[in-house]
Amino acid sequence: MAQLSDDCFAFGGALMPVDEALVLIAARLVAVDGFERVPLHDADNRVLVADLAAPVPLPLFANSAVDGYAIAGADLPQDHPRAYMASQRVTAGALAQPLVTGTVARIFTGAPMPAGTDTVFMQEDVEVDGDKIILPPGLKARANMRPAGEDIAQGAIAISADTRLRPQHVALAAALGLTELTVRRRIKVAVFSTGNEVVTPGAARTSAQLYDSNRFMLAAMLRRLGCDVSDLGILRDERELLAVGLKQAAREHDLILTSGGVSTGEEDHMRDAVEAVGSLVLWRMAIKPGRPVAMGVIEGTPFIGLPGNPVASFVTFAYVVRPVVLALAGVRMERLVALPVRANFAYKKKKGRREYVRTSLNVLSDGTLEAQKFPREGAGLLSSLCETDGLVELAEDCEGVSPGDNVAFIAYPNLF
Ligand code: AMP
Ligand code: MG
Repeated sequence: MAQLSDDCFAFGGALMPVDEALVLIAARLVAVDGFERVPLHDADNRVLVADLAAPVPLPLFANSAVDGYAIAGADLPQDHPRAYMASQRVTAGALAQPLVTGTVARIFTGAPMPAGTDTVFMQEDVEVDGDKIILPPGLKARANMRPAGEDIAQGAIAISADTRLRPQHVALAAALGLTELTVRRRIKVAVFSTGNEVVTPGAARTSAQLYDSNRFMLAAMLRRLGCDVSDLGILRDERELLAVGLKQAAREHDLILTSGGVSTGEEDHMRDAVEAVGSLVLWRMAIKPGRPVAMGVIEGTPFIGLPGNPVASFVTFAYVVRPVVLALAGVRMERLVALPVRANFAYKKKKGRREYVRTSLNVLSDGTLEAQKFPREGAGLLSSLCETDGLVELAEDCEGVSPGDNVAFIAYPNLF
């Protein structure tokens, strides 16, 4: 498991800007140890350990990009159409013979270029008259041909270390003829909710209790990030219970993630519990929705306590938990890329903190993407996350939005 020093999340300022949190996380956390070989079918969303050098070039051999006629570039018609004989027919998967000089080869997409050819006429551009193939002038040598290694040269880095593999990377590994990849082990994350008012769905509930939604949301987001999640249920707001639960979880996990109980109220026992078994700092992040996020270390294992309000939990997950998970999992930091879109709403904002506005995207008839704000703002409204497409990010120095302004939009699928 990770071994961190107790003060690794200490922060000097009063309000922590989001970008400073990212810098601090990147500086303090290292990837967990442990690799495994996985078959390609299990490689998606795993993290490649080392640079992968191509054992073969891609394409593996020079081949035709079209259905047509292969010819030697040196033998192309110059100023006038010229007639040739087709001396062989090469289909995809068949072996080609060296070209008889002065002839052409009938060829199909993906078929190997016969030795002596380097150019292909598309069949649409060719006139066939009996057994004569009449080629027009004007085609450049090497047209419509895919040389060996044009995609990836043999020995070049095909996929770099620390890449979170996507389906396209898996395809590349398969194209190179590999059957397995060496990836980092999944990080183990313990998730629990806290609060006497929270009960698990399906359990008996008093009229003052609500069903736990955060645990399911956080576990789902973690799984999308490739984590191995242990669901540790709900812990009551009792210092002793919380402390025992945390200590236990720390031994078997790389990260402990909780929600609720981290504010400064008398009934928020999470802080005391963490301090009983480890160390804790409250990051007062300059982010809305967010409130403080608790960061800590318990027996060398990082701990993150998110606010209980589901929307605050969701947003702080994206801006604190996600980078921590990626750092522990050994993924090269993937920055969240925002799209420029046009706001159709007005919004007042305090300078000095970053705000995230839940918005839907409309595609206007001229193709413009327009962000529309969810009509209500409560940090407890799960419908606001379900009925919108992403977050408009308003930078620290922004003082508000007027209709027509360009704003930065981040789609939800990019967050996990
Ligand atoms: P807290 O951060 O504990 O002060 O909680 C803030 C709000 O979030 C309260 O209204 C809680 O009832 C609510 N809340 C806390 N934990 C959860 C949870 N696991 N699922 C849904 N709502 C929660
Ligand atoms: Mg609470």
